Amino acid sequence: MNEGFETLAIHAGQEADPHTGAVVPPIYAVSTYKQDGVGGLRAGYEYSRSANPTRTALEECLAAVEGGARGLAFASGLAAEDTLLRTVCAPGDHVLIPDDAYGGTFRLFAKVLERWGVSYDPVPLGDVDAVRAAVRPETKVIWVETPTNPLLGIADIAALASVAHDAGALLVVDNTFASPYLQQPVALGADVVVHSTTKYVGGHSDVVGGALVAASAELGERLAYHQNAMGAVAGPFDAWLTLRGLKTLAVRMERHCDNAERVVELLASHPKVTQVLYPGLPEHPGHEVAAKQMRRFGGMVSFRVAGGEEAAVAVCDRAKLFTLGESLGGVESLIEHPGRMTHASAAGSPLEVPGDLVRLSVGIETVEDLLADLTQALG
Ligand SMILES: *Cc1c(COP(=O)(O)O)cnc(C)c1O
Repeated sequence: MNEGFETLAIHAGQEADPHTGAVVPPIYAVSTYKQDGVGGLRAGYEYSRSANPTRTALEECLAAVEGGARGLAFASGLAAEDTLLRTVCAPGDHVLIPDDAYGGTFRLFAKVLERWGVSYDPVPLGDVDAVRAAVRPETKVIWVETPTNPLLGIADIAALASVAHDAGALLVVDNTFASPYLQQPVALGADVVVHSTTKYVGGHSDVVGGALVAASAELGERLAYHQNAMGAVAGPFDAWLTLRGLKTLAVRMERHCDNAERVVELLASHPKVTQVLYPGLPEHPGHEVAAKQMRRFGGMVSFRVAGGEEAAVAVCDRAKLFTLGESLGGVESLIEHPGRMTHASAAGSPLEVPGDLVRLSVGIETVEDLLADLTQALG
């Protein structure tokens, strides 16, 4: 298939329903399937933890838009991560994680997997030599986020894929911030792509979900085995909502990027802003790598406020159209203070974030309204 991204996002895994002609896969709210004689499955379905037609449609579509061999849908991004790590790691193994990893990912390593016997080291992913130097004989995974959350750091996926493969490790890329529309890690050498589909893929702040896309069918099969064995699957309603979101990902992302660029322009020339973190800025240390591996630079923008933590908190409190809240990637704009909200659990760790930092998830509202709100919030 040589179809374009938008065509795949709308059609992959979604033939019209053979019985009714319904153009959208129905929500198969069902747990079990009638067998025609013992073992006689009509369409391969026997029990909905193992497989469900609505989930299958989403999984096939996710694999297609990421250019991978196999897609799997989970109850949340963290459920996907946990299933992945307990498939490819065993007690005694070691993992390298970004030194500004998503807080929940960090917590999964620090509080859950470490007790299970998997150790980890945070590394600055922007520095390929530092990553190579941190690899140990027992390193099984290099975990990449790019752009990172909330500092919008950029990692060179192709370069890190070679480091991982030279060491016999897997390269995992959490592609939540970029979305498959802006960045396709499998084509750059990643073995597994992780998503919190809660964010841009779902896109409407109405569903929590996660996904894995494996580059190879063999790894996809092992992950599917664990998906069923561990059971953290996406339900049919959630799969349906996520699939609906995915159809418009391309047009939404274009507008997220357009609006983010205008917001960056405003912030960069504002006297109360000391620094704007956005990979689209030529002075961003990861700009060249981002330009090489991303279609555009995304809808996430972070910035530092003159006057420190209290001033940053005040900006968040004054914002009106930018809703004060965690999460990201929905059509509505969100603002948050990472130090006290999404990244509060990283306080005192190597992943602690600056107190004067504000993070924006720039939505797709009328851009003039967004600019006016930020101007009043900055005071
Ligand atoms: C939200 C998020 C996750 C976790 O996903 P959930 O759906 O909340 O479990 C993982 N990685 C990144 C980058 C995220 O933003």
